[in-house]
Amino acid sequence: MEDSFAEQAALLSEGGVDFIHVETMVHPKEMRAALRGVRMGAPGLAVAVSVTCRAATDSFKTTMGFPLDAMLAVAKEEGASGVGANCMLTPAAMAPLIAKIVAKVDVPVFAKPTVAPDGGAPLYPDEFGEGVAELFALGARAVGGCCGTAARDIDCAVRRVARGYA
Ligand SMILES: [Zn+2]
Repeated sequence: MEDSFAEQAALLSEGGVDFIHVETMVHPKEMRAALRGVRMGAPGLAVAVSVTCRAATDSFKTTMGFPLDAMLAVAKEEGASGVGANCMLTPAAMAPLIAKIVAKVDVPVFAKPTVAPDGGAPLYPDEFGEGVAELFALGARAVGGCCGTAARDIDCAVRRVARGYA
């Protein structure tokens, strides 16, 4: 698996990307292979990883059932340049997860929530934008949108964040 990540990272590096972001990590071994592979294939590039967790208030687990702490431990051991969460959760549902990650790591944290909760109706762009501002307020350094997020959602989020947040 490491070789596959290395090969992709090398090609992306040759193509001129500024950094690598490996998303939707749900297994500690997969994350370790990703970080080692990217370092091997693109040693000069920063590499960030993000986990995909189920909704929870405290004990977050990946969609494969691995505890958040186990994932963060691998990210730290393998020297991830950034850590975050993506997919599955709306900004509001992702907020406690991001707060937890911010409290536990000393690298930049980012969030890529979804606009539609699992099986539920999509948020209005204003709601998404409000949630994005909350994620920044919690300490996320970059926020984007995962599956289902459209240009209007990002546009709303940009305008909301431009008004400031605390
Ligand atoms: Zn997604």
